[in-house]
Amino acid sequence: MNASRVANARSGRLDHQDVEWMKMALRLASNAALQGEVPVGAVVVREGVVIGHGANARETRQDPVAHAEVVALQAAAHALGRWRLTDCTLYVTLEPCAMCAGALVNARIGRVVFGCVDPKAGAVVSVATLLSHPRLNHRPPFQHGVLEEDCARLLKGFFQARRAKKHSRNDGEMAELVEGA
Ligand SMILES: [Zn+2]
Repeated sequence: MNASRVANARSGRLDHQDVEWMKMALRLASNAALQGEVPVGAVVVREGVVIGHGANARETRQDPVAHAEVVALQAAAHALGRWRLTDCTLYVTLEPCAMCAGALVNARIGRVVFGCVDPKAGAVVSVATLLSHPRLNHRPPFQHGVLEEDCARLLKGFFQARRAKKHSRNDGEMAELVEGA
C-alpha cells in the first residue's frame, strides 16, 4: 500500500481503485440476489489483481458460514496456496459480521474496505469493533462508506421485494381459503 492510499483512507476521500473494486463486489452481490441470497459480495485484491471473489451463498449451499467474505478468503487462499493474506485487501459491500471479522483477523488480511454499515450485526464499527480490538493481535486498517448508498440500496431493495412476495403469497393462500370455504 502506498502512502497516498493510506492518506486517502484516513481522510475519508474515495480512492478511484477502491470504487472500482467495490463495483465488482456490488455486481457479485446483485447476482447473489437473483439466487435468492441476501445480496452481499466480496473481492480479495492483491497488487491490483483479483485473486478471490465470493458472494453470500448461505441458501444455495445451506451453509451457515458461506458468507461472501469467507467464500472470497477461501478462494484467495486457495489461489495463493497460503492462508496468510497480509498483502491483500478485502472489499465487501456490507460491514463484516463477527464470524467474518474473525476470519479476516485469522487471515491476517492487509486491509478491509466495506460499503455500508450493518447496525444489527456488523462487527467492525457497529455492534463490535473486532478489527481494532486492542486485545487481538492483528488490527488491519479499514475504511467504509465506499459506494455506501449503492450497497445499502441493493440490500433494502432485496428485503422489500422479499416482504412483498411474502405478502402476496399470504394473500394467495387467503384467497384459496376463502374460495375453498
Ligand atoms: Zn459474515
